[in-house]
Amino acid sequence: MTEKKIIANLKKILNPNSIITGNDLKQRFYHIWKMNVPLEAVAVLLPKNTKEVSKIMHFCNHNNQEIIIHGGLTNLVGGTETKKKQLVLSLEKMNNIEDLDQESRTITSQSGVIIEDLINAASEKNLLLPLNFGAKGSAQIGGAISTNAGGLRVFKFGMIRHMILGLEVVLPDGTILSSMKKILKDNSGYDLKQLFIGSEGTLGVVTKVILRLHEKPSSRTSAIAGINEYSNVIKLLKYLEKELSGALSGFEIMWKNTYDLMTLEPSILKAPIPKNYKYYIFIETLGSDIQNDYQLLENLIENALEKKIIEDAAMASSDKELNNLWQIREDVSILDSNSNNSQHFDISIPIPKIGEIIDSICIELNKLQFVEKIFIFGHVADGNIHFIIGKKNNSIESIEKINKIVYSPLKENNGSISAEHGIGLHKKKYLKTTRNDEEIKLMKKLKKLFDPKMILNPKRII
Ligand SMILES: Cc1cc2nc3c(=O)[nH]c(=O)nc-3n(C[C@H](O)[C@H](O)[C@H](O)COP(=O)(O)OP(=O)(O)OC[C@H]3O[C@@H](n4cnc5c(N)ncnc54)[C@H](O)[C@@H]3O)c2cc1C
Repeated sequence: MTEKKIIANLKKILNPNSIITGNDLKQRFYHIWKMNVPLEAVAVLLPKNTKEVSKIMHFCNHNNQEIIIHGGLTNLVGGTETKKKQLVLSLEKMNNIEDLDQESRTITSQSGVIIEDLINAASEKNLLLPLNFGAKGSAQIGGAISTNAGGLRVFKFGMIRHMILGLEVVLPDGTILSSMKKILKDNSGYDLKQLFIGSEGTLGVVTKVILRLHEKPSSRTSAIAGINEYSNVIKLLKYLEKELSGALSGFEIMWKNTYDLMTLEPSILKAPIPKNYKYYIFIETLGSDIQNDYQLLENLIENALEKKIIEDAAMASSDKELNNLWQIREDVSILDSNSNNSQHFDISIPIPKIGEIIDSICIELNKLQFVEKIFIFGHVADGNIHFIIGKKNNSIESIEKINKIVYSPLKENNGSISAEHGIGLHKKKYLKTTRNDEEIKLMKKLKKLFDPKMILNPKRII
């Protein structure tokens, strides 16, 4: 079908204002970090409700038309890249929070709502949506569901998968599959919604969700610690988890040169402790009594200093200090903008082996003359480490040499090439590193079952 005909048909489904074509497409982009690269596509479609999404998918399926889903465009695996002949389905106008139920502690939302708006809406009613990560101001809840996003509080609250009670999805043929229940337990057959969480929009378009909320903690305390030996990182984690009995909600790590850059002028972020240590640990507790919680964390930090588990530490003693501390950990776009031809990694490794494996990866990376910068940080309590690597050129050869080094320890250590960002287009080649043939075969069968014409987010993952 010609582009003209496609658009003419789509105008029967959507209001013309909800179809972006021609010159207006030049204002659109495929990633928030690539706003200067105009989008290639036949059109961007902006449905306002599930029925419109269903009609779009029915049209695409009937006409073998490929379509790529756009959420907040913050993924780091090429998931939202497009080609000239593809349509784009953007959820940005499906941005209604439909219900906030204080008794059942749930929030019901269309999938285009920005995560921070959901967090704030819950917070206004003294409830907590524990999802927290650097891109929360741009990422949409549908994008986060499709990538099974994690973030800074996973080891206490789990990935987003653990926060979802109900889900509504439009299948590639336009069927609306609705399981919008507010219940926590439902073992009546297969839990179908799980298939759409983390499958990167390859099996269906997420259109609505019911998320589980928690009572909002009335106190949040934080500290940063400097450590030189990796074995002490584990000792500190075990010590704090034991002594804080459930209140520990964040335990994040940053390597020295990453901390150096994050707190180096012209950055407005201030270094709470000197830049002398190999590892920096960011600690957060959530509780109900600010004075007691602060005192408890301070005492534990002092004990850890006395026991020589940590070399140095600082408490965040005001909101300003607390925000400064967490911005050092969260504002990782600074690292990307300081890296030429950046390459991103988010690997999973068993927690006890992280120190040794990262050291050996760095030794190998430093042997490559084209590697300019290596920034390392991550969710150490989840065994999830991120790398941002800057290099002199972006040749396929250089990219693959780096991939090989970072991924090579994963197989023998039962790790993963993707702890949370997914596979998208960029990591497909390496899926075999951490998934066996039987698993990949079944994934392909599932894709074929849901989308036999391969029109929805084609060529992602497998
Ligand atoms: C600074 C920064 C920090 C980050 N930190 C973290 C982190 O700590 N933890 C983490 O897990 N991730 C992190 N990410 C990655 C990213 O933010 C997440 O993957 C996020 O969940 C993507 O949401 P999005 O709305 O931007 O989705 P997009 O980037 O728009 O889309 C992601 C994928 O989902 C598909 N998709 C989007 N919406 C839907 C939908 N409604 N239905 C079906 N498929 C859909 C897209 O086609 C694409 O394949 C970070 C990214 C940045 C830039």
